[in-house]
Amino acid sequence: LVEITGVHKSYGANEVLHDITLRVAPGQVVTLLGPSGSGKSTLLRAINHLETIDAGAITIDGEYIGYERRGTQLHELREKQILQRRTRVGMVFQNFNLFPHLTALENVIEAPIGLKRASRQEAIAQARVLLERVGLADRADHYPRQLSGGQQQRVAIARALALAPDVLLFDEPTSALDPELVAEVLSVIRDLATGGTTLIIVTHEIGFAAEIADHVVFLDAGRVVEQGPPAQVLRAPEQARTQEFLDWVI
Ligand code: ATP
Ligand code: MG
Repeated sequence: LVEITGVHKSYGANEVLHDITLRVAPGQVVTLLGPSGSGKSTLLRAINHLETIDAGAITIDGEYIGYERRGTQLHELREKQILQRRTRVGMVFQNFNLFPHLTALENVIEAPIGLKRASRQEAIAQARVLLERVGLADRADHYPRQLSGGQQQRVAIARALALAPDVLLFDEPTSALDPELVAEVLSVIRDLATGGTTLIIVTHEIGFAAEIADHVVFLDAGRVVEQGPPAQVLRAPEQARTQEFLDWVI
């Protein structure tokens, strides 16, 4: 269970997240929508503790990723502990962020071996299963530059799954792809969703969001303007601001 409670975040005078509260149950698929600059990436990065927060709390099964509670105060943990706890969360970025000097297989085994979660042999066996799952069993020994964008993104998904995270975060996973490569990545995400993986997805693919989301959150200027099931938020929004955004992206 991911619990985001009363989260605030500012960069200087710019308040980027204002009182964000959101619960994501195990197996749930949540999509985050909103205009550029509304705080979507910042919120995802805060879940992973790639960003600190100024107030509120984010926990996964009751555990903070980047903080510990001492009395009433939260104190930031040391980097090593953060790295350990961050393994609860997988993240897939817009630009894939694969290690260019490592093959697909080596990208996937890097974290499990680096964090001493598995022997090299175990990690390789598991990575082959994950690459198979994203349809890339025959590309294990290719380097990122030898793969299409869609294939690179699927390797990135396999890599994010390698530590068996409790939740997987996607930040616009298809927006850097050529249109003909979008479907293969969405298909992998769809399989994860129906397979019961907990997902939080930032996307501008409204049709896809409507199809796979259990819950849709619309952010604007750092605030949750509206949230609810896709049939409500995407088909019959209550807020004019949501409708305006939908008219603009579709
Ligand atoms: P996009 O759809 O363009 O990706 P977004 O909804 O993901 O937008 P964020 O990247 O979360 O938006 O940014 C929210 C706000 O925070 C923006 O006003 C942005 O300029 C600001 N911001 C983000 N990162 C930083 C930073 N490191 N330092 C200062 N301001 C930042
Ligand atoms: Mg963003």
